[in-house]
Amino acid sequence: MPKKICLLTTGGTITMIHDTQQGGLRPPDTPLDLYKTLPELTQLETLLPEQPQLAHTEFLMNIDSSNMNPAHWQQIAQAIFARRDEYDAFVVTHGTDTMAYTGSALAFMLHTLNKPIILTGAQVPLTGGLVMDARNNLINAFRIAALAVERQLHDVLIVFGSKVLRATRAIKHSVFDFDAFTSFNAPEVARIGLRYQFQHEATAPRMKPPCQLQDNLDGRVALLKVTPGLSPQVVEAIAHTDLQGLVIEGFGAGNLPYLGAYSLLPSIEGMIARGIAVVITTQAQIGAAEMFYVTGAEFIRVGAISGADMTSSSAVVKLMWVLGNFGHALDRVKTHMHTNYAEEIDVRLLG
Ligand code: ASP
Repeated sequence: MPKKICLLTTGGTITMIHDTQQGGLRPPDTPLDLYKTLPELTQLETLLPEQPQLAHTEFLMNIDSSNMNPAHWQQIAQAIFARRDEYDAFVVTHGTDTMAYTGSALAFMLHTLNKPIILTGAQVPLTGGLVMDARNNLINAFRIAALAVERQLHDVLIVFGSKVLRATRAIKHSVFDFDAFTSFNAPEVARIGLRYQFQHEATAPRMKPPCQLQDNLDGRVALLKVTPGLSPQVVEAIAHTDLQGLVIEGFGAGNLPYLGAYSLLPSIEGMIARGIAVVITTQAQIGAAEMFYVTGAEFIRVGAISGADMTSSSAVVKLMWVLGNFGHALDRVKTHMHTNYAEEIDVRLLG
């Protein structure tokens, strides 16, 4: 049986053109005609064994994803929610730069959606000549969408290069490789090669409550990467904006300086006392903010929230979503930050 798929386009390299005058890639003035560029799109269900059927295309926006903000995430989520009964799955084309943020936002706002959402993009545009990953990624996105429908894999997934990964675990780790994304602290959902190899764990269907759209976001959240010798004045300056939440990427297992002139403890404690939620993640490539050193534990003692094994991008988006939907009371923020909504966190790490 063909699976009805809705394609939403948002821009990104995949549909960009090369502007020789401006000397760079940019979205075309009018969105690229995908059906002209890739006529096979109209016959996918007869050409592919998984039978994805491109049932509808909607050009939502046409931007470099560096220009995305939470209002764009809401627009995409609302478009999907409004069409949820008409299609079996959604494919969203998107720039790679902020794809992990958008994917996380969709995963939280639509965490009760019983349909797969597949994000894809490319390192080289569809119109980029003979060297291209765009065509592969787009076709794979449709095939994986159809397979995800069959497997009841109701997640927000990124299909890119040889990988299928959860958006909430994705990090853009390469601007060079065709495998632009890596999965942080979680196995990939599937590998793409001659066949699609799904992880056993990833195929288990999960029951979800009736679908609601929880699309409130409080965008007054920032991400700060700590470096040795970072002046506490920087944190003070950030704290005295309208900020409501701060994610700090600490060292190693969630460590931050707490001794001497560079101690961040007084500024962080002051922020928390004023009701700003502070979440600590790790700068490491593998592992979690587990605070098993005093340098991390001191910050938990004054009310910081462990980001555990979340990616910093997922933690930032989740914090916006939690503040937007569940209010600013810090104990409630902590409870929701430590609830697993979209496979973004391993709650066993929280003890
Ligand atoms: N700057 C582009 C974007 O994120 C990069 C890409 O799509 O690969 O829109």
